[in-house]
Amino acid sequence: MNVPSVFSLLKVGFGPSSSHTMGPFFAARDFRDLVASRGFAGGRLRVVLWGSLALTGRGHLTDAAVAAGLSGHDLDRDAATPLPAVLAAVRAAGEVGIGGGRFAFRPDEDIVFDASDRELLHPNTLRFELLDAEGRALFAEDYRSLGGGAVAGGSFGAAPAEKGHFTMAAVLGECRERGIDLAGFVRGNERRLGLADAEVEARLATLWEAMRGSISRGLSTRGVLPGRLALARRAPGLYEALQEQDGTKKPLPGELDLASAYAIAVAEENAAGGRVVTAPTCGSAGVVPAVLQILQEALSLPDERIHDALLVAGLIGLAVATNASIAGAEVGCQGEVGTASAMAAAAACYLLGGDAEAQVDRAAETALEHYLGLTCDPVYGLVQIPCIERNAAAAVAALHAASLAVLCRGEDRISFDTAVAALAEIGRDMSPKYKETARGGLARLLGTNPGARLGSPDDDTATLPRPAISSLAQPNGTRDEIENHGHEKGSGDRV
Ligand code: SF4
Repeated sequence: MNVPSVFSLLKVGFGPSSSHTMGPFFAARDFRDLVASRGFAGGRLRVVLWGSLALTGRGHLTDAAVAAGLSGHDLDRDAATPLPAVLAAVRAAGEVGIGGGRFAFRPDEDIVFDASDRELLHPNTLRFELLDAEGRALFAEDYRSLGGGAVAGGSFGAAPAEKGHFTMAAVLGECRERGIDLAGFVRGNERRLGLADAEVEARLATLWEAMRGSISRGLSTRGVLPGRLALARRAPGLYEALQEQDGTKKPLPGELDLASAYAIAVAEENAAGGRVVTAPTCGSAGVVPAVLQILQEALSLPDERIHDALLVAGLIGLAVATNASIAGAEVGCQGEVGTASAMAAAAACYLLGGDAEAQVDRAAETALEHYLGLTCDPVYGLVQIPCIERNAAAAVAALHAASLAVLCRGEDRISFDTAVAALAEIGRDMSPKYKETARGGLARLLGTNPGARLGSPDDDTATLPRPAISSLAQPNGTRDEIENHGHEKGSGDRV
């Protein structure tokens, strides 16, 4: 059994997207390092984005992330740097310094959003080129952003050739044989991978601190989220309303409402490009922290217990990442928010005292099962609608799944492994319209007609013109042209 490190999945990162922002940033920084190590002293840099990166890259700040990576920013350490400001600075300079040389780089011309249909090895593919004065390539590298911030190509090497390194059935069998619980299994695995126990503890503490930080910043930061939807942040007002409520208008127990507020707080931080933890991705980063935070408060749990629960959540995320996918561009949102809900459900069940096989596995399965087939259709390519509220819904669903698993006795008919296999199959069969291309669903309806009220029976989507996202994919459009395309005043208020 070959279980990867849980820290390859759970990482401190920055929003709004692990696959469309973090991955391209890491790729750009790698290409910069390769250009420096090969001793090039000048030329022009060019980046081509394909597939989902071309279709939703502007909403996901892919262009800004690429500019930040090529210009040598250290966003993973200094996540407070606003990406749009970095892009503006690179645009103004028209060049970046690498090693001792100066390299022309004008983002509006040199980042190409190529949305043409083509066969790609991966839906998130990008190429970096160093060109000479005649436009001939001196050096080029292709990269693939695999989801959760993982990258293949360049110094990162090829993508993992095989999926299916382990199954939860095998993990549970080993736990049974050795008389250990799931957190103990993951700790042993990290040891096997060469990580000292103290280092594991330090990393867990950093992750939990970053998760809590994203909740508290999200609860206290007001204003409007970046992007043409002009969505106002809701988490602070929601939190205040929950503190003030007298109980007469509370259809849900307070913990569920609070979990929603926490999840929205993190998701809004992510949408604003803030510091979050990939769990398993940035777009779904609110679910696990919200569930852990509410359980820590409700049960007065010490941080050490939360650290154990993080290991359990990470193991569940790894099972999906290695046997299916956690990338919305590959399998839709079932792989992102669906996986996040399963991770949170397993962690919650573990904290509630559920036993590994009959209950924790069942909690993860129950949560994932009801997200199978969930599409990714982000409006305007922004990680905001439906993503932000979806984090809240998935946190509540996770608590519900954990509760069911603890209360129900007897074996479940479906194992978590089976639910993951179903996710993979559904992902393969899913139309590309629903895989982070913003060409279907809410993205198509709202992107085309910002004033539309969804759900009316006479919505005639077939007669609607090509969605606005097609203009987002044009390499020649400036950001201002794109921002203003088809935008109707006040549309953001209606959605
Ligand atoms: S719909 Fe889901 S998968 Fe798509 S961007 Fe939003 S959170 Fe990510």
